[in-house]
Amino acid sequence: MRALLPFLHLFKQTKFPLFLGVVLMISGLAASIGLLTLSGWFLAATAIAGAGALFNFFYPSASVRGLAIGRTALRYFEKIVTHDATFRLLAKLRVQVFSKIIPLSPAVLNRYRNSDLLNRLVADVDTLDSLYLRLIAPFISAVVVISFITFGLSLFNLSLALTIGSILLILLLVIPTIFYRLGLKFGKKLTESRALYRSQFVEFIQAQAEILLFNAEDKLRQQLNRTEAQWQDYQQQESKLAGFSTALLMFANGVLVVLTLWLAANLDFNSDIGAHWGSVVERFAFIALFTMSALAAFEILMPLGSAFLHIGQVISSAERISEIVDQTPLVAFQGTQTAASFSEVLLELKNVHFHYPERQDVALKDLNLQIKTGQKVAILGKTGSGKSTLLQLLVRNYDPNSGEILFGNQSITAYSESTLRQQFCFLTQRVHIFSDTLRQNLQFASLTKISDEKMLEVLEQVGLANLAEAGLNQWLGDGGRPLSGGEQRRLGLARMLLNDAPILLLDEPTEGLDRDTERQILKLIFAHCHNKTLLMVTHRLTEIEQFDHIAIIDNALLVEKGSYAELSQNSTYFSRLMERV
Ligand code: ATP
Ligand code: MG
Repeated sequence: MRALLPFLHLFKQTKFPLFLGVVLMISGLAASIGLLTLSGWFLAATAIAGAGALFNFFYPSASVRGLAIGRTALRYFEKIVTHDATFRLLAKLRVQVFSKIIPLSPAVLNRYRNSDLLNRLVADVDTLDSLYLRLIAPFISAVVVISFITFGLSLFNLSLALTIGSILLILLLVIPTIFYRLGLKFGKKLTESRALYRSQFVEFIQAQAEILLFNAEDKLRQQLNRTEAQWQDYQQQESKLAGFSTALLMFANGVLVVLTLWLAANLDFNSDIGAHWGSVVERFAFIALFTMSALAAFEILMPLGSAFLHIGQVISSAERISEIVDQTPLVAFQGTQTAASFSEVLLELKNVHFHYPERQDVALKDLNLQIKTGQKVAILGKTGSGKSTLLQLLVRNYDPNSGEILFGNQSITAYSESTLRQQFCFLTQRVHIFSDTLRQNLQFASLTKISDEKMLEVLEQVGLANLAEAGLNQWLGDGGRPLSGGEQRRLGLARMLLNDAPILLLDEPTEGLDRDTERQILKLIFAHCHNKTLLMVTHRLTEIEQFDHIAIIDNALLVEKGSYAELSQNSTYFSRLMERV
């Protein structure tokens, strides 16, 4: 239950609509119960009075009509107000969850599958709509309406009113408790199996090409079917229990009606009140009034059993959302420095030591490196040696476990996030293509508007003239034109050329390109950054002599550094790499 507290706090933000919803729900229920009670009494009273008797039927019949119309109108507005309030709450919650998710990227989010995150943001947030609509509002309304019925009936006979009121109140406390406990058992399993099924299903669709090529469709389909069967099994259990709750309440209803009839038959009613309705009205009409109100009161209780059965799922969804919301980002951008100072030594890594969270082995060990303003630095090394990790630390996707990174003689942590982002243009190893137009895929590289002419010029420079022929409005990414690995890389390069950050971090920008194209692209990169600082991770040694400084990382250690001339004369790692070319 404690998992629900943060979500209950959210209720404060939409207090009035939530309150109004409860008032309308109470009024609707009261009108409905009043209608059944009054019409029951009215029919009985007129039957007893008989034809030709003096009996004021005008007020009761007008009230019946008024209550019938009122009930419909109140129900209509109640549904609008309560649903509107719930959707507003869910919208706030979704924004809140989303704004918590973003700073977790990429370090903490790597732990979750994308489909699982989406499921938490969509399905789990949706499940929380029951909290107000099916649980809190009906429960409060039930308490108020039962008190109201008891008070109303006590005007006629106190002891019978108290008996009916107490039985209803006991049922109101016992039924939700029983079904809450029953629901808690498999609510968590139901939510988890739903999430698992969705993730497996998304993966099954996304990986169709590989699945078909490796002939693994049957195996994965069977796995999917097993998960689905399990999920349906939990749903079936829930439906059975919901049916049981209805049966139990109907039985309780019958018992209460019989009990009321029996008790009412032996009682005296307050004749003063009876006199208001006409002297012909006898005790039989009051018996009908009590019985009808006992019958009608179950309208409040009926939905509560299955609603409280659902609470296990609500709690489990709340826990799944809290699990994300309560995560703290691994990297906190608390720096306030907004002006980046460009000293001679622009970037300096001092005794940097880093291992990825949840991994024991070290990704970078005792690393010391200085990068001067305007320098062109190549980072070489075998696969898995830690080259990309070094770039990740420079953009603060992760912070070192020990050691320090200085930017312009100040700790990199002293700068605000936006200042740092403006200083670095980071071309990652895997270029992400947005499901959007070619224009938008390029535009997001810059904060200022890029003209069409500039975009076309850059596309031409990176060798994507054929892509540009289909126009800047063509759709890329999912559902759009597919791009080859080399084309994606070039699009990444086009973004780099459109970005004006003074420091470029490029992770294998020429991977997968043939040697001639590679030379062309390198020429382009050097021309673009002649007055910028460049750090380029590469496996290839094409044009390596053009770099001012070369650093070689092997197995998490920076093993060699120096200029091309220095390393050519006196090195082991570099000469080994050169021999392989
Ligand atoms: P490549 O040339 O193949 O790109 P690299 O030198 O760039 O290799 P890194 O990506 O820096 O290598 O990886 C260094 C080590 O850290 C590897 O053992 C890798 O498995 C591990 N690693 C990389 N990224 C993560 C991550 N997000 N979480 C955990 N471990 C990681
Ligand atoms: Mg890498």
